[in-house]
This record gives sequence, structure tokens and C-alpha cells, in this order.
Amino acid sequence: GCAASDVAAALRAAAATIAEHRVELTDLDRPIGDADHGENMNRGFAAVVSKLDEGVPETPGAVLKTAASTLISKVGGAAGPLYGTAFLRAATALGDKSELDAGDVAAALRAGLDGVVARGKAVVGDATMVDALSPAADAAEAARGDGIAALLRAAADAADEGAGSTVPLVARKGRASYLGERSVGHLDPGARSSALLLRALATAAG
Ligand code: ADP
Ligand code: MG
Ligand code: MG
Repeated sequence: GCAASDVAAALRAAAATIAEHRVELTDLDRPIGDADHGENMNRGFAAVVSKLDEGVPETPGAVLKTAASTLISKVGGAAGPLYGTAFLRAATALGDKSELDAGDVAAALRAGLDGVVARGKAVVGDATMVDALSPAADAAEAARGDGIAALLRAAADAADEGAGSTVPLVARKGRASYLGERSVGHLDPGARSSALLLRALATAAG
């Protein structure tokens, strides 16, 4: 099972991964955006860690809800409200459960994706984080019988592949869409950050 302390540890691992890849994420955002995605994400996840240092809420859902409000207030840009909504919807899907099983994790990923789509209106193929998160949610559901760690590995693998699929696409949402055809040939920074987050969660789950 997965308790609030495990979710907190996974978020700390996610923050460490984002810090490690901060320059890469910002570099991805330079040619097709405004070169701030790594800084935005790092500011937000560092704030999540500070918040967890003050105390870990009692349930997995409450931990994710705290992360959501912190990300919304600290990340900014397009990604802040999108990731914030994802974490908030995931939290809501978990309710007040104190211990998560693989089905709960799959449901939380699905709810998070649905939140991003509700907020940003992107579909698969628009070259956004949805291109990583949607195949990840599908893979998680398919792997729900395999335990949390294997489920998250399958989700992270699918997200890596989905992020890679954004390279030949014309961006249709967010700043990169302002470039039209000139957005072709670039990995979407938000798709990359989503894949990195899922890999960090999978590694933290063992
Ligand atoms: P900003 O573009 O405001 O500077 P960031 O650079 O932090 O924000 O985040 C950019 C990322 O946000 C993009 O790479 C993309 O993945 C994601 N994004 C932008 N708009 C949308 C949207 N409508 N739906 C889903 N994801 C989006
Ligand atoms: Mg940006
Ligand atoms: Mg910006």
C-alpha cells in the first residue's frame, strides 16, 4: 500500500528530479516558448518541499491537495494552473483514503489528466503535456493488476514515448502554438516535465 508519507516522499523525489532537469526544461522552452519552464517548475516543487517540511498532511489526498495549491500559487504561467488542477483532481479522486492500492493510483492519474484537459482543452496530438499524460493514464489502467511500482513504471515508459511523439508535431496549444509550423521539430517542455515527474514517482515507489 501507499500512505501519506509515501506520497510525500514521492513528491520530494519529483522535486529533486525537476531541480536536476531545470536547465534542460528551460532550454526546451527557449526555441518554442519563453525559456522559463524549468524555473517555473523548480520554483513550484521547491515550494512543495518547503510545505512538506512544515508537516505532512494525514492522507494521500490531503498531501496532493497541499501540493496542488502550492503549485497553483508558485509555478505560474500555463503549467502552474494545469499541474495544480491535475494534483487537485487526483486528490479529489482519492478522497480521504489513508492507504492507496494500484487501482487508486491509476484512478488518480486518470483524474489528473482529465483535470488538465478540462482546464487547457488540449487533445492528444496538440504537442502538450497531454501527449505524455494521456498514454500514461492508459498504461496505468492496463497495469493496475501489477502493483503500484510496476504500474508507475508502465506509466512513465508510456509518458516518455508520448513526450517523444511531440517532436514532429505542430503545437496547437500554449505559447508554442504561436509559431505554427515553426514549432515542428521540438520536444514539448511540458510533455517532458510530465514524463520526468512520472519517472520520479515510479523510482520512488521502488
Ligand atoms: P508558459 O508557456 O506560460 O511560459 P510554461 O513554460 O511553464 O508556461 O509551460 C509550458 C507548457 O505548458 C507547454 O510545454 C505545454 O506542455 C503546457 N501547456 C500550455 N498550454 C497548454 C494547454 N492548453 N493544455 C495542456 N498543456 C498546455
Ligand atoms: Mg514558458
Ligand atoms: Mg512563461
